[in-house]
Amino acid sequence: VRDVGTPIDDSELAIEGALRPESLAEFVGQHKVRGQLQLLLDAARIQQRPPDHILLSGPPGLGKTTLAMIVAHETGRPLRMSSGPAIQHAGDLAALLSSLTPGEVLFIDEVHRMARSAEEMLYLAMEDFRIDIMVGKGAGATSIPLELAPFTLVGATTRSGLLPNPLRDRFGFTAHLEYYEPEELELVVDRAAAMLAVTLPHDGRAEIARRSRGTPRIANRLLRRVRDFQVVHGDRKGVDAVRAALELYDVDEIGLDRLDRAVLDALVRRFRGGPVGLGTLSVAVGEEAETIESVVEPYLVRIGFMGRTPRGRIATPPAYAHLGIPHADGALR
Ligand code: ADP
Repeated sequence: VRDVGTPIDDSELAIEGALRPESLAEFVGQHKVRGQLQLLLDAARIQQRPPDHILLSGPPGLGKTTLAMIVAHETGRPLRMSSGPAIQHAGDLAALLSSLTPGEVLFIDEVHRMARSAEEMLYLAMEDFRIDIMVGKGAGATSIPLELAPFTLVGATTRSGLLPNPLRDRFGFTAHLEYYEPEELELVVDRAAAMLAVTLPHDGRAEIARRSRGTPRIANRLLRRVRDFQVVHGDRKGVDAVRAALELYDVDEIGLDRLDRAVLDALVRRFRGGPVGLGTLSVAVGEEAETIESVVEPYLVRIGFMGRTPRGRIATPPAYAHLGIPHADGALR
């Protein structure tokens, strides 16, 4: 769905993996979360127990998977990766949990999309490191308790609001990842450029950071597109070449991609600035409501282009200005 947000193929995925920081110290930005996590890991190390369960929420590409890997790396334990959509039955989860080794870190991405029956099994597993396995059917059914090795669950979600309270309450630590500041993204770009041996012109990294939508994954990806451009047009080395490369990929000068602009455009032109409901907006741009709500909106709200009201989404004057459309009231809505 995303123009630049999604890995294009296996080699892209491999590069993404290679660029992941391995320690909290290398992880750029998110100072508060980093400090809190460091304390959690240090305490666990001193007491020689697995760290508490960790819930990470926030839009895609901000570092949730990376942090799960760092937790495993810093505790010196293996990491097991799964995702909510892959756990469609309690049995899937039982198989996963019963095969964990002591202290293992279990990462469940999109934890809000797990089956309800598995969710209930997870409550007990998180709390007591135990599950009940149902054997047989009907009147003869019995449940057999099964002890699990202690583990640390790292759950990630783009929509923490969709998690049932009993599940959310069982995480000892929850953190919301915020979009990155341009200066932080410059550090991400610097680091990746050094690793990929790309030489950026003066202002090149600021240009990439500005167009990365506050998202390290996008910053890394745009850097690779700039690298491609340099490979093909070796003689063009200025910041204009960086801009030319980025324009090819449909990101505008403030980093909005095609879907961001489609949503804004519908909101402003078709619905005259709103308010309009999420469902209506989603049909108008032909994109799933969940994607709009968890990927598009948070950024547009964060940069002040969109507002949420009880009656629906509205466009703000800066959104009109960005699209180059005169604002009917000529004043704040
Ligand atoms: P999420 O799981 O939230 O979708 P990831 O952890 O997969 O995001 O991160 C996507 C990419 O962005 C990875 O290649 C990672 O290297 C990079 N990245 C994310 N956060 C940071 C950070 N704080 N510092 C450096 N690189 C980061």
